[in-house]
Amino acid sequence: MTLKMGVVGTGAIGREHIERITKRISGAEIVALSDIHQENAEQIIRDFKLDAQFFATDAELIAADVDAVIVSSWGPAHEETVLKAIEAGKYVFCEKPLATTAEGCKRIIDAEMKQGKRLLQVGFMRRYDAGYQMLKQALDAKEIGEPLMLSCQHFNPQVDENYTTDMAVVDTLIHEIDVLHWLVDDDYESIQVFYPKQTKNKLSHLKDPQIVHLVTKSGISIHAEIFVNCGYAYDIQCRVVGEDGILSLPEVSSLGIRKDAKRSENLLMDWKKRFMDAYDNEFNAFINAIEKTGSPSYPTAWDGYVAAVTADAGVKAQQSGEVEKIDLPETPDFYRI
Ligand code: NAP
Repeated sequence: MTLKMGVVGTGAIGREHIERITKRISGAEIVALSDIHQENAEQIIRDFKLDAQFFATDAELIAADVDAVIVSSWGPAHEETVLKAIEAGKYVFCEKPLATTAEGCKRIIDAEMKQGKRLLQVGFMRRYDAGYQMLKQALDAKEIGEPLMLSCQHFNPQVDENYTTDMAVVDTLIHEIDVLHWLVDDDYESIQVFYPKQTKNKLSHLKDPQIVHLVTKSGISIHAEIFVNCGYAYDIQCRVVGEDGILSLPEVSSLGIRKDAKRSENLLMDWKKRFMDAYDNEFNAFINAIEKTGSPSYPTAWDGYVAAVTADAGVKAQQSGEVEKIDLPETPDFYRI
């Protein structure tokens, strides 16, 4: 079976996903595109020689002959498109954020549960990164006993002037928020944000770097450094201290260079390259799970909701400087996969 996919939002990541579905993975084809900028979508149709139709609105695309919709427009537009797609009974791959508020995510969960089967997967691709999967397997096998403390860093070389202080949580930390509780199989209890000495390289309206302290229900302490104008590279690190040892996220493999009396390795500057395989893997999982089980894989809409509730508390913590509680209900059986 070939899954017929439509894409709503053909900007940076939409284009990447179209390329991977067209050139790198099998089991799906792009048959429909929609974007506010018609010329961008039509350029993509030409660039990838797609046999696909342009639709002026998401509603028309959803009503067309598509089995699944990729939602990769800007965040505030996600909820409306996702709800329309679920109501039409279409499968959805939604880029993060699922919705920009926890209430919006809850509306999506309610709509999906009303349909009686899971239709949606969220684009938190780190769960499909080989390094994070190695960490997960070792943690599940209790190779270092119980995890006690995690320390992570999410560093970007630089951000543009549209990047605001809250985006450090809702856009950047959001990936750690999703992947870390999955790694240790625990829910979050609280969050606090600190502002250490600030970099001279930041924009005047921005707080950078920021340190986030998350605590899980079982008491695991997570220290996350967010530094989005670090200059030197796109650098993602994660280290787990357990009762019996330490696990570290593997470094990205890179050519070793010995030259001019120096030994060196290049680091990545572009986030797209760091998680290239993970993006491919998440789409393979989406397509294969639908074919085998009739529903997509994880992360589910519930994971999108958990991330939104945690991010909301994180933004509150940025403003208050206090420890903010993260109130999450029990995961419904519908979302236990
Ligand atoms: P982008 O380059 O701005 O692309 C979004 C595109 O969607 C733009 O062409 C935008 O037009 C268009 N658009 C906005 N609202 C729309 C609507 N209602 N219907 C159709 N098209 C609409 O942004 P991006 O970097 O690709 O990001 C898109 C989404 O992916 C964001 O939610 C972002 O957080 C997420 N993302 C995820 C990752 C990841 O690692 N998983 C990485 C990057 C981005 P305008 O330019 O006029 O708004």
